[in-house]
Amino acid sequence: MQFINGKTAAGTGPEQLTVLNPATGDVLETYPEASAGDVDAAVNAAAAAFPEWSRATPADRSDALHRAAALLRERSAELADAETRQTGKPIRLSTEFDVPGTIDNFEFFAGAARNLEGKAAGEYVPTHTSQIRREPIGVIGSIAPWNYPLQMAAWKILPAIAAGNTIVVKPAEITPLTTVALAQACLDAGIPEGVVNVVTGAGPSVGEALVTHPGVSMVSFTGSTAVGTRIMGLVAPVAKRVHLELGGKAPMVVFDDADLEGAIRGAVAGALINGGQDCTAATRAYIQRPLFDDFVHGVADVMSSVRIGDTMSMGTDLGSLISLRQRERVDGFVRRAEAEGAKIEVGGTQPAVGWDGTDLSRGAYYAPTLITNVDQRSEIVQHEIFGPVLVVLPFDDDTEGIRLANDTSYGLAASAWTRDLQRGLRASRELQAGTVWINDHISLASEMPHGGVKQSGFGKDMSTYAFDEYTTVKHVMVDITGASRRDWHRTIFTDDGAAKAPR
Ligand code: NAD
Repeated sequence: MQFINGKTAAGTGPEQLTVLNPATGDVLETYPEASAGDVDAAVNAAAAAFPEWSRATPADRSDALHRAAALLRERSAELADAETRQTGKPIRLSTEFDVPGTIDNFEFFAGAARNLEGKAAGEYVPTHTSQIRREPIGVIGSIAPWNYPLQMAAWKILPAIAAGNTIVVKPAEITPLTTVALAQACLDAGIPEGVVNVVTGAGPSVGEALVTHPGVSMVSFTGSTAVGTRIMGLVAPVAKRVHLELGGKAPMVVFDDADLEGAIRGAVAGALINGGQDCTAATRAYIQRPLFDDFVHGVADVMSSVRIGDTMSMGTDLGSLISLRQRERVDGFVRRAEAEGAKIEVGGTQPAVGWDGTDLSRGAYYAPTLITNVDQRSEIVQHEIFGPVLVVLPFDDDTEGIRLANDTSYGLAASAWTRDLQRGLRASRELQAGTVWINDHISLASEMPHGGVKQSGFGKDMSTYAFDEYTTVKHVMVDITGASRRDWHRTIFTDDGAAKAPR
C-alpha cells in the first residue's frame, strides 16, 4: 500500500488501517500504515532521483508524461471503479469527471513541461548580463484530501515533476488506492523510480513525519484550513516553502435579471457535485428578492428529482458521503440550524432505499438538502459543511449581495448570475475569491489556475501558474567586461593604487 522507489511495499508502522466502501460498508483493503522509517526511505528515494530527473530535458519529461496519460487512458475503467469504491461517489462522476480530468491534467503538464518561462537575458547594468533560471526546488512533500483522491494526487504530482522536482505524496488514509495506481502508471510510463513516491497513513503520524522531514524542501497541502495552518506552523521554524489549498464556502450571487432556470440548475449541480464534498461547491445562494421564492421552489423541485442509489449504477446521480462520521457531521449542521429556526425546504434526511430499490441502509447517504430562513452569522452560513446542503438567503441591492457573499473567512470560489455584462464584470471584480464564474459554477480547465484567497490558502494548482509554486527563480549575473578592477569597489575599500594584484 506504499510506493517507494518504484516498488509497492507494505508499511512497517504499528497501526492497521482500513479502506471501506462508504456506500456499502464493505472492507476494500486493510493495510499497515507507514512508519517514520518508511517516510525516510521515500524521501531518500526522491532525493536520490532528483539529480537525474531535474536535469532531464523538458522534452524527455514531457514524453514520459504523455506516455503516462496514454496508460491512464487504457486503465480508465479500473481507475474509475476504484475511485468510486473508496469514496462512495457515483461511477458516472468518476467516469466522466475524475478520470478524464486527471488524464487531461497529465496531457496539459506534458505540454507545459516544455514551456517553463524565464525573462530573456539582458544587460540591466552595462557591465553585466543577467539571466533568469527557473529551477526545481527538490523533494516535494504533498498531502492530499479524500474528496477527489485521483485528481488531487494529479494536481500535486504533475506541476511538481513536470518542473523537475521529485515527490512524496501522502493521500488521505481512507482513500489511498488510486494514488498508488497513479504512481505505478508513472513508473510504467518510464518516469524513473524514486520520482513519484507514495506513503500512506494518518495525518498526525505519517503526514507530520513527511512535512517536517529535513529532506523535504517544500510542502504542498490540500485539505482543511485547520490542518493547513497547523502544517504552516510546523515548518515555520525552518522557513520551508508551503503551498496551501484549503477549505471553501463558495457563494452564488443571483441578480434580479439572471436566467432563473440557468441559476436553478447551476445551483443544484454546484451544490451536489461529489455529494457537496467539493471545496468550490455552491454552498450559499444569495438571491435578489424578486427572484427569491421562484428560485427556492425551482431548486426544491430539481433536488427532489435527484436519483440517489447504487454508486456502481450509471443511472445514479448522487452517491454516499465519504463516511458515516462525515454524514453525522453534516446532519449535525442541519439539525442545529433547524433548532435555531431554519426551514428545511427539502432533504435533511438519510435515505434508506435508492431510486432503483437498492438498500442504502449500510451506506453514508444523505439527501440533497435545501435550507432557508437562516441568519448570515449562523454556523451553517459561515462554516464549511462538506455535504449536499445549500442555504439560500435574500438580498436587496447589488452592494448588499456582494457584501454578504464576501462575509466569510473563506475565499476559494464564487459565482455571479446576471444577463448584464457590466454587472457581471463588476461582480467579478468585487467578489473575494480565487475563481469567479459568471453564469456558471464549478467548471474547470487544466490551463487555468485553481487556488484561494483569505483562509482558503495561497498558491495555485493546475495551469502554468502552478510552476510558480514548484520552481524557484535564480538570478545569474555574469560580468561581461573581463576587468579585474570595478568602479563600485571604491565604495567598499580605498583604491589608491596601493592594492597589489593577486599572486
Ligand atoms: P483534512 O485537512 O482533515 O485532511 C487532509 C489531509 O491532511 C489528509 O491526507 C490527512 O491525513 C492529512 N492530515 C490531517 N492531519 C494532519 C497533520 N496534523 N499533519 C499532516 N497531515 C495531516 O481534510 P479532509 O477532511 O481530508 O478534506 C476536506 C478538506 O479539504 C475540506 O476543508 C476541503 O475544502 C479541502 N479541500 C480543499 C481543496 C482546495 O483545492 N482548496 C480541494 C479539496 C479539498
